[in-house]
Amino acid sequence: MKTLKVSVVTPDGPVLEDQFEMVSCRAQSGELGILPGHIPLVAPLEIGDVRLRNGNDTNHLAVSGGFLEVRPDKVTILAQTAEKPVDIDVQRANEAKERAERRLQSHQDDIDFKRAELALKRAMNRLNVARD
Ligand code: ATP
Repeated sequence: MKTLKVSVVTPDGPVLEDQFEMVSCRAQSGELGILPGHIPLVAPLEIGDVRLRNGNDTNHLAVSGGFLEVRPDKVTILAQTAEKPVDIDVQRANEAKERAERRLQSHQDDIDFKRAELALKRAMNRLNVARD
């Protein structure tokens, strides 16, 4: 089976570099599935679960936006944040989720709803990925 070299990098440093048969992720334009030989592409990423597949084995990463760069033999993900399931602090994510929900439910005018919505999305994504 052909593979792609996948590198995932954040401002804190590299998170993962390995060979995979397929990369699936959510770009702003929709769901993408990348196989070796894919046409070159740059796409902004949504907050979501990046799935890295080898046979029946799937690795997950929780990613909070950034960019995907595809070349025929290589995928680079430059992410704002990226965590493997084992590195996710579930309690912290639950606290972030509750904080964001409280902000969204409050009726104060000075609440930045967009910011709270994004914080809620990041927390829910981490909780989903930690469950995989
Ligand atoms: P919090 O409010 O808990 O800081 P956040 O969504 O605002 O959550 P980010 O700004 O996305 O946090 O991330 C800041 C740094 O903390 C990044 O390095 C990210 O990987 C890490 N991080 C955030 N939440 C978690 C978590 N639940 N488990 C592990 N690392 C986390």
